[in-house]
Amino acid sequence: MSEQPIADKAAKLTAVKGMNDILPPESARWEWFESKVRALMARYAYANVRTPVVEPTALFVRGLGEVTDIVEKEMYSFVDSMNGDKLTLRPEATAGIVRAMNEHNALYNGPMRVWSAVTLFRHERPQKGRYRQFHQIDVEALGFAGPDVDAEQILMCRALLCDLGIPMEHVRLELNSLGQPAERMAHRAALIAHFEAHADVLDEDARRRLHSNPLRILDTKNPAMQAIVEAAPQLMDFLGEASLAHLNAVRAVLDAVGLAYRINPRLVRGMDYYNLTVFEWITDKLGSQGTVCGGGRYDGLFEQLGGKPTPAVGWGMGVERMLLLLEAVGVLPPGTEPDAYAIVPAAEAMPVAMAACEALRGAGIKVQMHAATGADGMGSMKSQFKKADASGARYALIFGADELAAGTVTVKALRDGAGAQQTQALAEVSAWACNLQSRS
Ligand code: ATP
Ligand code: MG
Repeated sequence: MSEQPIADKAAKLTAVKGMNDILPPESARWEWFESKVRALMARYAYANVRTPVVEPTALFVRGLGEVTDIVEKEMYSFVDSMNGDKLTLRPEATAGIVRAMNEHNALYNGPMRVWSAVTLFRHERPQKGRYRQFHQIDVEALGFAGPDVDAEQILMCRALLCDLGIPMEHVRLELNSLGQPAERMAHRAALIAHFEAHADVLDEDARRRLHSNPLRILDTKNPAMQAIVEAAPQLMDFLGEASLAHLNAVRAVLDAVGLAYRINPRLVRGMDYYNLTVFEWITDKLGSQGTVCGGGRYDGLFEQLGGKPTPAVGWGMGVERMLLLLEAVGVLPPGTEPDAYAIVPAAEAMPVAMAACEALRGAGIKVQMHAATGADGMGSMKSQFKKADASGARYALIFGADELAAGTVTVKALRDGAGAQQTQALAEVSAWACNLQSRS
């Protein structure tokens, strides 16, 4: 590997390609989204977990499968120069959570429902809705074998879409069953025979995977292969009674709550750990990056990572894609404007103004203080009013010399009834604030 030259000391440094800075005002949308997620998790009694961003590379190789896009070409892997350990920036959340549960024997007292807000890394070609550092809301139910929990998790996604104000006509639910390993083995032979008969249309990835992991070929994004993928033998036809009963039990809940879905026999997901139920929530508003949420059951993963056999099911939702979808359907989160902007014509008034604003904040009012930005002190009244206006505040609080002498503050409306003014005694400013809050 060639050493990269250290950049010129004066040159402007930029973010790594495919990795985004999230700054105001965009960050407010993220906070709003996260607050909706937190409220949802509390409603469904899922507890928060946080695991490291860096994991041993072997965790993902063993967990996701060697012959998957993520492990073959998307992982940020490196050798720790201090001790030679092989490490990877996590490309997905489930394997790390399962490792943590195994390591701490966390399911000793029974199953757990958990969620995590995670930053993930995949070396993909950056484009709208596809980045190299991205974020997911990840949800896992660990130690539950029944189809009821699969259905619960699908309903959670629906509830979140609903809480966010996304009309259901813009998303669809697709569902499939990947059966059990023995059923997949029988299907696998039929799949290999089918693809061998069409070897001329297979791309390089598919040819390489034909004998190691033919199911992965069904997950191809290559348009030239869609026709042979469509014609491939369906795993659904190889499912035994128990697998079909599990799928039907999930469907029965979805039918009972009136949630429409489409059975998509080609839906296989990108990781090897899935079995039985798999699902995706898809929108047609985001082009080829249309999957906003995907998940399924992974009953074999605990054992594969050295733990006790533990049935589990989970999903991951792409935060960037959800925010793009919200934008596409015109959902605007509530604003983050302050209630009041404190105008302080002269620096001498600052201590009194600050004390009054502290009282207001104590009463729950959002106050933005004017502050000096350069050598020219506080700036003119005109420029302070301009900033007050730009802040979006409903009121300007003016802490002028006259007010200061009289122990008052002038409150000027900037939005509703703009221009209206009243004088408030500083000692009573908190009472005024309570009044303000009850009207907001
Ligand atoms: P895709 O088929 O679009 O590559 P995936 O099957 O690789 O998605 P998962 O690994 O199941 O996706 O992750 C769940 C969700 O995370 C996806 O549905 C998507 O919303 C989001 N996601 C996946 N990869 C990216 C990425 N590179 N950038 C942004 N969001 C992503
Ligand atoms: Mg992918």
